[in-house]
Amino acid sequence: MRRFPSKLPEVGTTIFTVMSRLAAEHSAINLSQGYPDFSPPPRLVELVGAHMRAGANQYAPMPGWLALREAVAQQVLAIHRRSICAESEITVTAGGTEAIFCAVQAVVHPGDEVILLEPAYDSYEPSVRLAGGTAVRVPLMRPRFDVDWERVRSAIGPRTRLLVVNTPHNPSGAAFARCDLEALADAIRGTDALVLADEVYEHMVYDGGLHHGMLGHEELAGRSLVVSSLGKTYHATGWKVGYCIAPAELTRELRKVHQFVQFSVASPLQAAFADFMTEAPAHRLELAAFYQAKRDHFCGLLGRTRFRCRPSAGTYFQLADYSAVSDLPDVEFTRRLTIEHGVAAIPVSVFSAPPPAERLVRFCFAKDEATLDAAGERLAQI
Ligand code: GLN
Repeated sequence: MRRFPSKLPEVGTTIFTVMSRLAAEHSAINLSQGYPDFSPPPRLVELVGAHMRAGANQYAPMPGWLALREAVAQQVLAIHRRSICAESEITVTAGGTEAIFCAVQAVVHPGDEVILLEPAYDSYEPSVRLAGGTAVRVPLMRPRFDVDWERVRSAIGPRTRLLVVNTPHNPSGAAFARCDLEALADAIRGTDALVLADEVYEHMVYDGGLHHGMLGHEELAGRSLVVSSLGKTYHATGWKVGYCIAPAELTRELRKVHQFVQFSVASPLQAAFADFMTEAPAHRLELAAFYQAKRDHFCGLLGRTRFRCRPSAGTYFQLADYSAVSDLPDVEFTRRLTIEHGVAAIPVSVFSAPPPAERLVRFCFAKDEATLDAAGERLAQI
């Protein structure tokens, strides 16, 4: 075969795949890739089976099962007091990642600039590059990973098409305050920039805090594509069901891409989610307390180690500073941690370019207590 040029020459395999594979090879406790080690609600699983038996086995409508889109619209109304049109403003996607990819392809033209706040989730930049755009990276401020809106403003130029925000933020756990929404609206007012908001951890905000998402802000709601994830909320990441909410005009463009990337998402899963969201609204309401208890338990365990917990306001991730444990760079450190100590974590530097010289790893605490206890014991021995 003749040599052909790669479209993504600098991209390797995602860090989540690499670390989960390494964890499996070494039988390590896997706190790297973000997913629960417990099951979805039994009733939700039952509903999937019931819908399969009842015949929901062929293609779902391209934009998503209408009952599911209606359940999502109901939820947005309950949370943000905003009425969303299920028909024209919601698209069900194969997880948050597909929604992000399609949103970027739909709005970014060759030569456009897209602002990413780093550490930035690993799929953002490749999506931008495949659309012919250029990523402009703005670092979040340390130690709390809040947004430096002055720097964002100065990064915005005539070619800025999109600003990608992620709240609550993976990997840091930082969450927007109301004033961040105001600052974001200020920053893009009078420009052509749109917002892509990755809000897949929207129901995991702790310590009594609220989720400040784009749909809670009139101006931002009018120019944002908001991505969420049913897999994250309902402990079913492997089902790959998410959605994107955007004004009709943007949704039309998004669907032009979605219909050729995915066409439509698994019917029985969508039907089951529609029923379950309507039957059990308490699930999402209890999620923050459920995960906050896990966060606190895990931080208690880390308190008996030489790792130092950073504050985590949301998501199911916990950053820990390991500078008292090792001088190794984080990529090498997480390899050794997995192979020699049996606990897998995600190195944080891989989400920034160039990688900052900090000693931080990300642990996922969406695990049963026994898993966290076992990991805590191993980490305490280092
Ligand atoms: N969002 C998950 C994480 O941050 C990973 C999802 C994936 O591996 N594609 O760990």
